Amino acid sequence: MTPPTVLISGAGVAGPTLAHFMARHGFRPTIVERAGGQRSSGNPVDVRGPALPVAEELGIMPQLRAAATHATSMLVIDAKGRPAGRVPMPSSKSAAGNREVELPRGDLAAILQEAARDDAELLWDDTVTSVSQDGSGVDVMFEREAPRRFDLVIGADGLHSAVRRLVFGPERDFVRHMGVWVATMPLDGPAEYPHDVLMHNTPGRLVSIHPSTGRAMVAFIFRGPMVDGFDHRDTAQHKRIVTEAYADAGWCVPELLCRPGRMAGSRCSATRRPVCPCSATDPASPWPAPTPSPPLWPQARRTTRRPSGHTRQHTASTPTPSSAPPASPRRC
Ligand SMILES: Cc1cc2nc3c(=O)[nH]c(=O)nc-3n(C[C@H](O)[C@H](O)[C@H](O)COP(=O)(O)OP(=O)(O)OC[C@H]3O[C@@H](n4cnc5c(N)ncnc54)[C@H](O)[C@@H]3O)c2cc1C
Repeated sequence: MTPPTVLISGAGVAGPTLAHFMARHGFRPTIVERAGGQRSSGNPVDVRGPALPVAEELGIMPQLRAAATHATSMLVIDAKGRPAGRVPMPSSKSAAGNREVELPRGDLAAILQEAARDDAELLWDDTVTSVSQDGSGVDVMFEREAPRRFDLVIGADGLHSAVRRLVFGPERDFVRHMGVWVATMPLDGPAEYPHDVLMHNTPGRLVSIHPSTGRAMVAFIFRGPMVDGFDHRDTAQHKRIVTEAYADAGWCVPELLCRPGRMAGSRCSATRRPVCPCSATDPASPWPAPTPSPPLWPQARRTTRRPSGHTRQHTASTPTPSSAPPASPRRC
């Protein structure tokens, strides 16, 4: 008997995992992924709780650990840029009995895709454009691939699922806004504090800089109602939403908002290429004019660097980054 075929839309976290387990149960999976290929890096996510036995069953724990971030604590920063407290991270290697792993989402997806490589056919850079079901199977049309027939079609294509839209109807009928927005953005290079997640928290609003593994990642996480006319592909609109939410924010937020980096995916399916007001010539730029930001570590003025390379903090009670703080005042 020929094995039943299954089309899985999306090669993110769920898609390749499902493909692997369905292949084990006698299915012949095909995965279609809109992206052109494997993407590494991205926002850090924790593999924990019920995800751990799945990862162990897949045999990918060594790969996950090899790709893990090295963040061990969260350092809370006040509006003036002063460290206010430190919280150890449960996924840090030093945590007792730790099995959890934190790694960039893109690396997690790449490891899962690799694990499913021998179990599934992978169609990159393509998407389903129509799905038509009858009593014995599903006819599928693709943007690029020739039409095919499958026994089963599964949507694992994320928050803005194409399969859900094609089979059940428009996204607005199925997606409920939970009152929280998330936008993420990579910085230009590696974090200066590779073991600390820097966090500035005010009621309903958080900004963090995560060292990740390559380029540091900024996350804006804030409460807010759904925006009328929200469009997950409208990057200029996303910039306006974030800018308005953080209009009066302290620390180095004004400077972060004008970083000439590339905003990555997010809950508001974020912004791809923000205009940097520091260099923008576009008078219609949605970004506010930059304002000077306070130094990140004012205490560093009181830090002396010994010839041996060790540093001595004169403000012993103040939390400091895990790595040595800079010898002169700095901006983020
Ligand atoms: C800031 C942030 C932090 C998070 N932290 C954690 C955490 O610590 N732990 C945790 O468990 N979860 C975390 N999550 C949630 C986690 O990222 C999601 O639950 C997970 O990514 C969902 O997996 P998925 O495979 O369903 O969708 P996704 O990971 O979104 O993958 C969907 C895939 O489908 C593809 N796709 C989209 N549209 C199409 C299309 N039309 N055709 C073909 N392919 C398409 C996309 O390119 C993508 O590869 C976090 C999320 C965010 C935003």
